Amino acid sequence: MSASTDVLIVGGGGAGLRAAIAVAETDPRLRVAIVSKVYPMRSHTVSAEGGAAGVIGIGDTLDEHAYDTVSGGDWLCDQEAVELFVREAPRELLRLEHWGCPWSREGDGRVAVRPFGGMKRLRTWFAADKTGFHLLHTLFQTSLSHPGVERYDEWFVTRLLVDDGRVRGVVAIDITTGRVETITARAVILTTGGCGKVFPFTTNAGIKTGDGMALAYRAGAPLKDMEFVQYHPTGLPFTGILITEAARAEGGWLLNKDGYRYLQDYDLGTPSPTPVLRSMELGPRDRLSQAFVHEVEKGRAVDSPYGPVVHLDLRHLGARKIDAKIPFVRELCRDYENIDPVTDLVPVRPVVHYMMGGVHTDIDGATPVQGLFAAGETACVSINGANRLGSNSLPELLVFGARAGVAAVEHCARAAPAGEPAALAADERRRIETLRRRENGRDSLAAVRTGMQRALEDGAGIYRSADSLLKAGETLRELQERYARLGVRDHSTTFNTELIALLELGNMLDVAETIVRCALLREESRGAHQRTDFPRRDDRRFLANSLVYRQDDGPGRVEYLPVRITRWPPAERVYGR
Ligand SMILES: Cc1cc2nc3c(=O)[nH]c(=O)nc-3n(C[C@H](O)[C@H](O)[C@H](O)COP(=O)(O)OP(=O)(O)OC[C@H]3O[C@@H](n4cnc5c(N)ncnc54)[C@H](O)[C@@H]3O)c2cc1C
Repeated sequence: MSASTDVLIVGGGGAGLRAAIAVAETDPRLRVAIVSKVYPMRSHTVSAEGGAAGVIGIGDTLDEHAYDTVSGGDWLCDQEAVELFVREAPRELLRLEHWGCPWSREGDGRVAVRPFGGMKRLRTWFAADKTGFHLLHTLFQTSLSHPGVERYDEWFVTRLLVDDGRVRGVVAIDITTGRVETITARAVILTTGGCGKVFPFTTNAGIKTGDGMALAYRAGAPLKDMEFVQYHPTGLPFTGILITEAARAEGGWLLNKDGYRYLQDYDLGTPSPTPVLRSMELGPRDRLSQAFVHEVEKGRAVDSPYGPVVHLDLRHLGARKIDAKIPFVRELCRDYENIDPVTDLVPVRPVVHYMMGGVHTDIDGATPVQGLFAAGETACVSINGANRLGSNSLPELLVFGARAGVAAVEHCARAAPAGEPAALAADERRRIETLRRRENGRDSLAAVRTGMQRALEDGAGIYRSADSLLKAGETLRELQERYARLGVRDHSTTFNTELIALLELGNMLDVAETIVRCALLREESRGAHQRTDFPRRDDRRFLANSLVYRQDDGPGRVEYLPVRITRWPPAERVYGR
């Protein structure tokens, strides 16, 4: 069976919905299809807590937002993209207000803004600590008002159909029935989010398995800056559930086992004209996560059943402030740790949070494959460079989701309707059918997945070295061989989640290889990529974004693209106190 549309969007999260609205508004005659492996409101965007950055306040300027982003990203950001981003972010946030997003407000009615790590001014808009929920809800309900937008909820895309360098659509499984269908399209926008699940401890939802990155990679598009993986310094130790940076922005402290605010021993404070932002707990995420490793090495962390942790202390904020500003933090601590932050210390550890890298795009979301676009966390423009600043990615998915939507419309105006590349589609159907029928041997999907996660954490975690990365690379190759022999125990067609998990694991293994490969070749330390054997930043060799291309045999081929510098020449990334 096959269906067709004009613009097909893979992913119903923030970036996907924003792109769909942009297509519908730009040309209401076009048909738009959103294909999402979960119901859109269950996308990971829903769990964003802290907020969205956009210059609004008096005394703040677009240049300052741009500079914070560029320096926070350790000069790996594309500065043209950053300038465009900071200019369009406030407009997008305001547009969301007009569509009904309930931004939190000051007593006098103005939109409230809070401090955020690495941002030297107050510019993070928020809706209590459920910003992502409100943002996604606003986008979802707005998308419903456009009749041209059609949805394939709980459909899993397994392959991009690319023929003669041009995208022609996708193959997808209807998860509820197991039906495999081809959906042809003139343009495809990937908005599938990140890939945190390649690591064992992550704030990311179980659905964040890097599908879009793997789809694009296999279709010949390069992935950019895959070595840059962000750890968030405050996740709950076992589940990895995020305790938002807003908890520290509202005045929370990080304490080691002696009850000492250990960050004062590190170069982390933010030089800021605003006293409220001078807190050392609001240093950038990469530096805070690295400080944790040093505390562990010094024997100053707290032992827990899930490894070493430190404590987040919110007790001095009091119940009233906690309930008003970060109620969700209290809810999460009660539900998942059985503690109350009003009276108890919260155990936390760094956990993988965000992928700076992704599908290589230009500022319009276009990839090198004709008709293929990407936006949101799955893409890399790059505005995040070597380290994303918290609260930049919600506005990023709005700004670049919208731009990708408009660019896809322009592409449709030029591109002829796509025919179905029947041979490619048939090939993919056969592959899925074979997987679904293949008997599982003694090995298990869970064992391969755990092996991959451990290899990544041990080999490509907060600190890496040539030795650790080579070892991780070797383990991943063995795991790929084991993966090729895996089958399933459930051969049914109805809601076969085992088959979906198997396909996701294949995607994660490919993505994991690119992370390790790019981390091995970048012989320097920059932002979230810290090499113990190359501890310094090396602008002479590596002021460049990495691009990794898939090869049929052997690891990916890596090229470097010089970073686009417009106004801020590389400088030292200093955070005085
Ligand atoms: C806990 C948490 C808190 C965060 N807090 C903040 C914050 O306060 N501020 C901030 O700026 N950023 C925050 N972030 C980061 C930010 O929320 C994410 O980067 C962003 O929401 C990603 O949005 P997205 O639209 O790119 O992808 P997602 O929202 O992850 O959506 C991905 C979509 O792709 C679909 N999909 C994936 N694979 C397939 C497939 N194979 N077939 C079909 N569909 C597929 C999924 O169904 C889903 O609809 C946070 C992240 C986390 C994890």
